[in-house]
Amino acid sequence: MGLVVQKYGGSSVADAEGIKRVAKRIVDAKKNGHQVVVVVSAMGDTTDELIDLAEQVSPIPAGREFDMLLTAGERISMALLAMAIKNLGHEAQSFTGSQAGVITDSVHNKARIIDVTPGRIRTALDEGNIAIVAGFQGVSADSKDITTLGRGGSDTTAVALAAALDAEVCEIYTDVDGVFTADPRVVKKARKIDWISFEDMLELASSGSKVLLHRCVEYARRYNIPIHVRSSFSGLRGTWVSNEPHAEQGARKVEQAIISGVAHDTSEAKITVVGVPDKPGEAAAIFRTIADNEINIDMVVQNVSAASTGLTDISFTLPKTEGRKAIDALEKTKSAIGFESLRYDDQIAKISLVGAGMKTNPGVTASFFEALSDAGVNIELISTSEIRISVVTRADDVKEAVRAVHTAFGLDSDSDEAVVYGGTGR
Ligand code: ADP
Ligand code: ASP
Ligand code: MG
Repeated sequence: MGLVVQKYGGSSVADAEGIKRVAKRIVDAKKNGHQVVVVVSAMGDTTDELIDLAEQVSPIPAGREFDMLLTAGERISMALLAMAIKNLGHEAQSFTGSQAGVITDSVHNKARIIDVTPGRIRTALDEGNIAIVAGFQGVSADSKDITTLGRGGSDTTAVALAAALDAEVCEIYTDVDGVFTADPRVVKKARKIDWISFEDMLELASSGSKVLLHRCVEYARRYNIPIHVRSSFSGLRGTWVSNEPHAEQGARKVEQAIISGVAHDTSEAKITVVGVPDKPGEAAAIFRTIADNEINIDMVVQNVSAASTGLTDISFTLPKTEGRKAIDALEKTKSAIGFESLRYDDQIAKISLVGAGMKTNPGVTASFFEALSDAGVNIELISTSEIRISVVTRADDVKEAVRAVHTAFGLDSDSDEAVVYGGTGR
C-alpha cells in the first residue's frame, strides 16, 4: 500500500459534522494501510465571506494583506480536521502551506508553485501521523511572504504534493460523484464520466468546469499523476483523469468519447475598446497595457474597420475580478493609443463544447451553432481550439444554452439524475 493524497473541498468540510465525516474517511484510508496526506480547503463559503469582509474595508483588496487574510480560512479547517482525527484515536498533524514546503513565486493572489519541499510532511508520515496540509497557500521564495494560488487553488496544492511525494493517486473529494458531461447543478441529466484524458479535462477546466482547476490538471499531466475525482458524501467510484484509462480492478474498459462535455463560465466580463485607429501597433499597445497589469485575457475579436472612418472596435474577455483594474489601466492610455471610449459588459456567459473527437468528426461546429439557434440563443463571440468550441452569449441564456447543447449532442443520461450533495454553488 502506497501513499495517497486526498483533497477535501470546502463543501465537504462545511460544518463540524462534515469535518467528523471526512475524518472517518481519512482514518479508513489509513487503516487500509495507506500513508495519508490530506489537503483541505476552507470550510464552506469561508473564502467568499472573507473576501466580502475585505471589500467592506477596502474597495479593491489585493496583495500581501489580502493573502494573509484568505489563508486564515484553511488554517481553521486544517486544525479542526486534525483534532477530529485525533478524537478517533489516530495521530494527525496540520501544516500551513509554508510549513509543508509549498514554495511559490511572489505574485500575490495568484501565485504559481515553483517548488515543493515536503521534508516535514515526510517526517510526520514516517512517525506514523496523518499529515493535514492547508490548501491554496504557499510562501514566496523571494519575499518570504505568504501567498495564495488563486480561487480553487487547493486542487493544485494536492496535485503538487502528490507529485513531490510520489503518491500513487491524488483523490479530489467534492460534493458531486465525479466529473459529469455538464455541471449537474445546471443539467440534471448530466452523465458521470468514468474516465477522461488530461487533454479533455484541461479544456473543460479552463472553460469553466470548476470541479477541477485547470492549473491542477496541467500539473498532473506534467508529472503524470492520476487524479480520482469523487464524492466525499458517497462511496461511489468517481472519475479517473489520466493519460490512459485506469486499469482499476473490476473497472470496465472505457473509451474516449467524441464529445466529453459542455462547460459554462459566468465569471468573465467583456471589454470593448471603441474607435481604435486601424493601423499596426494599436492592438499591441492595448494588450501590452493589459499584460503589464498581470491580467490574463481569454477571447479576442477585432471588427472589420469602417472604411469611412478608418476606425475599428476590439473586444476581449477577462475575469470579472480584473475588470476594474483593466478599465483603469486602459483609461490612462486613452490619449496615447487614441481610441474613443471603453465599454464594460459583465452580463455575459461563455459556453464551450469539448472533445478530442472533434478533430476527426466534421459537422460538430455546425451542430453546436444549430442547437444554440434552435434554443433562440444569440452568439456574440466565437473562439475555437482543436478540441473545443466556445461562444459568448448573454448571461441570462446560459442555462438554456447548456441544456440545449447537451441534448443536441446526445449527452443526456437516461437513468438516474445527477446528485449534488452539498455546497451552495457560490
Ligand atoms: P469543492 O468545494 O469541493 O472544491 P467546487 O465547488 O470547487 O467544489 O467544485 C464542485 C462543483 O463543480 C460541483 O458542485 C458542480 O456544481 C461544479 N461543476 C461544474 N462543472 C462540472 C462538471 N462538468 N462535473 C462535475 N461538477 C461540475
Ligand atoms: N478556499 C479557496 C477558495 O475558495 C481555495 C479552494 O477552495 O480551493 O477558492
Ligand atoms: Mg474547487
